Amino acid sequence: MSDTAQSAALFERAQRVIPGGVNSPVRAFKSVGGTPRFMVRGSGPWIEDADGNRFVDLVSSWGPMILGHAHPAVVGAVRAAASEGLSFGTPTIGEVELAEELVSRVAPVQEVRLVNSGTEATMSAVRLARGFTGRHRIVKFAGCYHGHVDSLLAAAGSGVVTLGLPDTPGVTGAQTAETIVLPYNDLAAVEACFAEFGDDIACLITEAAAGNMGAIPPAPGFNAGLREITARHGALLIMDEVMTGFRVSRSGWYGLDPVDADLFTFGKVMSGGLPAAAFGGRADVMSRLAPAGPVYQAGTLSGNPVAVAAGLTTLRTADDAVYKQLDETAQTIGAMFGAALTREGVTHQVQYAGNMFSVFFTDGPVRDFAGAQAADTFRYPAFFHAMLDAGVYLPPSAFESYFVNAAIDTEALAVIERALPSAVSAAAAVSS
Ligand code: PLP
Repeated sequence: MSDTAQSAALFERAQRVIPGGVNSPVRAFKSVGGTPRFMVRGSGPWIEDADGNRFVDLVSSWGPMILGHAHPAVVGAVRAAASEGLSFGTPTIGEVELAEELVSRVAPVQEVRLVNSGTEATMSAVRLARGFTGRHRIVKFAGCYHGHVDSLLAAAGSGVVTLGLPDTPGVTGAQTAETIVLPYNDLAAVEACFAEFGDDIACLITEAAAGNMGAIPPAPGFNAGLREITARHGALLIMDEVMTGFRVSRSGWYGLDPVDADLFTFGKVMSGGLPAAAFGGRADVMSRLAPAGPVYQAGTLSGNPVAVAAGLTTLRTADDAVYKQLDETAQTIGAMFGAALTREGVTHQVQYAGNMFSVFFTDGPVRDFAGAQAADTFRYPAFFHAMLDAGVYLPPSAFESYFVNAAIDTEALAVIERALPSAVSAAAAVSS
């Protein structure tokens, strides 16, 4: 067992002044139990906590750190930008360069607007879609997460095509009443929904490949089918690439499965690990945004020069070799997990969405949220903690993807390999 005295004391202190002791719920380890680790530094594939424990990081800040932690080029760019001034609230050169970089990589994206978080990106894209179409309903999929936007925090009702119910206190029925929640990877449900509500639907938003219920790729032709159905009904398609964007290829999921959505949302990798995100798409739609058009959207720190420098440098540093390494590393680690679980006879499915992957304790491919929920998630806390004790930081929830970074080397892989046997035994020993 690793020492957790410092983290435990910090968590105690944090809980006195921060709700639940954290600034984003999953960090609190609620679904795996135990003491959340307070990190003090990161370098390459490693992160180190306040007690001096070192972990191979398979979370990578939930996606952004594709180059590994504290990459010298990114840190250098941040230092240089910061020394020129932290924020001006005026246009800057860097934000134009970042916009040009994004536009050059994803063909349907002709214009982008920079914002500060993925939540802001999806919220703004939905508003723009409503403003552009003059329609009110929106469609999303169960298990897809698009940030904590009120209208997108909706759970499915009991039927296949039902109006959304609020997922959390504080979101009113009115805010989700215009959100329709459908099962993922089910084009027939989408057809049925559009047959009933098509004339009222402003947009359908989907994760380009689902990563927030574990890694669940769209079935072949699913995203293209969404394009066809939305276009036929005059609704916009919003491809949420906050997680996949510039991670699974230099053009994100679009680089693997080029479906021409009307709007895209980006975050994480394009931020280099600082708070930045973006939404973009067709020029005729984007030009409806203020000040060019009537749909209001704004931000004091949007396009912040330091965040832009981190994002631009991350994107420019991530060359073909980096993407090759991310893909190979994901395959290597996924195969290690699979082999260890097979040796112990634990039913499992290692599932990929590009170089994002998850381990589901179930057999057969997982296609949707119901499938992810049906897995033996009760095995995960034991598995997670055994890996943590052996120096591997996994996502502290069974419903998350694992994110590799290109700094993972043979030493880091060896730590994972050594950690697996006892973690797999721990997972096998749990009964529901
Ligand atoms: N969209 C997707 C697909 C995400 O995975 C996330 C966050 O994980 C968001 C949107 C929200 O981004 P943020 O946490 O930056 O608000």
